[in-house]
Amino acid sequence: MTNFSLAVHGGAGTILKSKLTDALESKYHAGLRCALDAGYVVLAGGGSALDAVAAAVCALEDEPLFNAGRGAVFTSEGKQEMDAAIMDGATRAAGAVGGIFGPCNPILAARAVMDRTDHVMLIGPNALQVARDAGVAFADTDYFFTQARWEALQSTLQMRAGGIEDDDPARRHGTVGAVACDGNGTVAAATSTGGMTAKLPGRIGDTPVIGSGTFADNETCAVSGTGHGEVFIRYTAAAEIAARMRHAGQTLEDAAHHVVMHDLAENDGSGGLIAVDAKGTITMPFNCEGMYRGMVTQDGDFQTFIYR
Ligand code: ASP
Repeated sequence: MTNFSLAVHGGAGTILKSKLTDALESKYHAGLRCALDAGYVVLAGGGSALDAVAAAVCALEDEPLFNAGRGAVFTSEGKQEMDAAIMDGATRAAGAVGGIFGPCNPILAARAVMDRTDHVMLIGPNALQVARDAGVAFADTDYFFTQARWEALQSTLQMRAGGIEDDDPARRHGTVGAVACDGNGTVAAATSTGGMTAKLPGRIGDTPVIGSGTFADNETCAVSGTGHGEVFIRYTAAAEIAARMRHAGQTLEDAAHHVVMHDLAENDGSGGLIAVDAKGTITMPFNCEGMYRGMVTQDGDFQTFIYR
């Protein structure tokens, strides 16, 4: 048996350290801890990595502080469009949804695509239908709305109109994700996001793109990314980590470090990721000020972090 482990992230677009109050800091730590608890219960009960990452991501989607599910950011037209993906490292089965609105937990819509269709990614009305048929709970705009994200959209639009670059990552983006290795040495990844504030309607980021923001393969690793999605897609961030392990014999830590600190950082790809291999080793590199993140190993050592 492998010692199981689990890592979660609540996005690399952290609030600037200078603006973080003690009360808010505690809320972020509590949100991460709640997600770790949800996944840990599954793994400790002998459940699969796949079920554990789904449970952890549901908890993060339910917490309005994070940009996924409830609390997702708004498009330039003031709507919410969510992306999510889940992947099983044992079979390489994967499911993803792009640009959806309605399911309280977009990750469960992605899981429904994986479990109930022959396809990997669905968008549009049929993505919602598959989720409905799977019994996924839906909610209306009031449930998903948060004043903070709405105000972030207004200031981003104002800055854009004035030709000012938005340099506050917390306002710009965020994402949630989880990776796990279960007692059988199977890994899985799940990622869910509202995307980037004031994105164009119809824009899909790296989150649901298998091999970019989400990936899992028992031979190498499971990865969930967060950051500037366009760069993660162009540098196939998650697949590149797996390729370095597979073809160059690199460790998880070296491969992930190279992708985050070089491929992404040197190409305007601010962000980070969490990754685990089939021995349960976890790494959580990021190239920006902070990344909401946490991990727990089989011994029940829970840890959560925001900055370095
Ligand atoms: N990667 C996400 C996206 O581009 C945003 C983020 O993680 O901050 O949609």
